[in-house]
Amino acid sequence: MNLVFLGASGSGKDTQAELLVKQFGYTRLSTGDLLRMLTHGESEMQKIIKLAMNDGFLNDSFVYGLLEIYFKYSKLNNAILSGVVRSVNQVELLDIALKKNGMTVDKAVYFELSDAEAIKRLSGRRYCPNCKENYHKEFKPEKIEGKCDFCNSLLATREDDNPESIKKRLTDFHKENDLIIEKYKNRGILEVIDASPSIEEIYKILLLKLGL
Ligand SMILES: [Zn+2]
Repeated sequence: MNLVFLGASGSGKDTQAELLVKQFGYTRLSTGDLLRMLTHGESEMQKIIKLAMNDGFLNDSFVYGLLEIYFKYSKLNNAILSGVVRSVNQVELLDIALKKNGMTVDKAVYFELSDAEAIKRLSGRRYCPNCKENYHKEFKPEKIEGKCDFCNSLLATREDDNPESIKKRLTDFHKENDLIIEKYKNRGILEVIDASPSIEEIYKILLLKLGL
């Protein structure tokens, strides 16, 4: 069964994906992962692709062509495609890449979170600039206010984690996501899951919805 996971950042979709990976041996894949595999290394071509990626130069036909090749040669099945469909055009591009390899999207799961909750989750994030450990004011607080548990450095907030930027990201997200979920809904393969309860509760509901 191949799954598409949808949800704003902060919805916890990747945490849920990891649970399915552990319990059922699913493979989680995002287009970001795929590009990182391609740029991980020091060859000239890897450096060039990395530069192109950072400049946003890698368009959909490149990325979905790469995805098609990956599907063909990785013999992937039971995939969780998370962060693969971010625009309505990509629904069809993913279909084509899968279809050429005799695969389909069997279910699309949308982890739905109110904007207020998403903002609360995202704006509480902080990290250690030194050892890169992540913290959260509410969900994973540091032991001594403002200092890293491991290396005692001062914690920082990512520039784009301020409420204004988060609101803008959410508005952009909804604009495309509404169209994406409409497409999967029309095919009768959409499952919507409330992403506000605890990780364990969401996982239980996810298993029920997937019939696992
Ligand atoms: Zn640290």
